[in-house]
Amino acid sequence: MKYLFHMRTSKCGWLDLAITSKKENAGLLQYAKFALLDCYKEFDGIVDKFKDRPPVSRVKLIASVLREFYGAPPKDLHEIVLMRRRKHELDECPYCGYPLKPRTLDHFLPKEDWPEYAIFSNNLVPQCSDCAPIKGQRYYCDTDKQALFLHPMYSSALSTVRFHVDVSLVGNRAIFCAKFSILEYVSVEDEQRIRLHLKSLQVKRRIEEYCDEQYQRWTRIVGARGCNVRASFERRLKEGDSDPYATNWGIAFYQGVLNNPQAVENLQKHEPYGPPRPLVKIRALFISD
Ligand SMILES: [Zn+2]
Repeated sequence: MKYLFHMRTSKCGWLDLAITSKKENAGLLQYAKFALLDCYKEFDGIVDKFKDRPPVSRVKLIASVLREFYGAPPKDLHEIVLMRRRKHELDECPYCGYPLKPRTLDHFLPKEDWPEYAIFSNNLVPQCSDCAPIKGQRYYCDTDKQALFLHPMYSSALSTVRFHVDVSLVGNRAIFCAKFSILEYVSVEDEQRIRLHLKSLQVKRRIEEYCDEQYQRWTRIVGARGCNVRASFERRLKEGDSDPYATNWGIAFYQGVLNNPQAVENLQKHEPYGPPRPLVKIRALFISD
């Protein structure tokens, strides 16, 4: 979970690309340009005033046009949206910490309710495919009277979250319990927001399911080719972040299993018996275009 301040911009290049394209309805965007620029100027204030419900959309007449420019963008805009969606250097989801490259884009203010931000770059955040359906079109909660989520490009609070996993064994089955910590200096208000964000994205349940999958995966790895589980896990921890508190789910999993010798032993016992299988010889297979 990293603070993505570097992705923010004060420019409105995406809108310019849409307006100057040859796509049908580009003229409608030109007509609405100043209204949209006014909305863009208000965006930072809306994100900062998270206890206020954002104002009702003022561009409803061209809502479908704006959404369509995101769903089927003209060539130049498509390139830049693709860069934000996939050609970034993130190796984990900024919303939840899932330790794989995020491959979808989230509209922080959902485009169904606020289409004015459908192609506003500061509203578009890389996100993992598990977070996407959970966040969906949600943003403001009338019960909590505040936004449910923290914006990874506007708040550094999510980058202070650390993960811990307790592992216990029931018979041969490993049971995982995910816990969270935050850095000491985080304000009480941010702590409360982090709590709501993690709860709204069901991060605890998802970490525990992730650990369960990883444990089963390692059971298969040890069973298929045998390995020293403790040495393998310790090597992965050395390769990772030097932070002693886990900054992602993968590190928390390795630390959690290593902290329970029985869980390590339970994995190790799947090691195959008998002599190792001989290596087979291979030859290259060439395929022309
Ligand atoms: Zn995620």
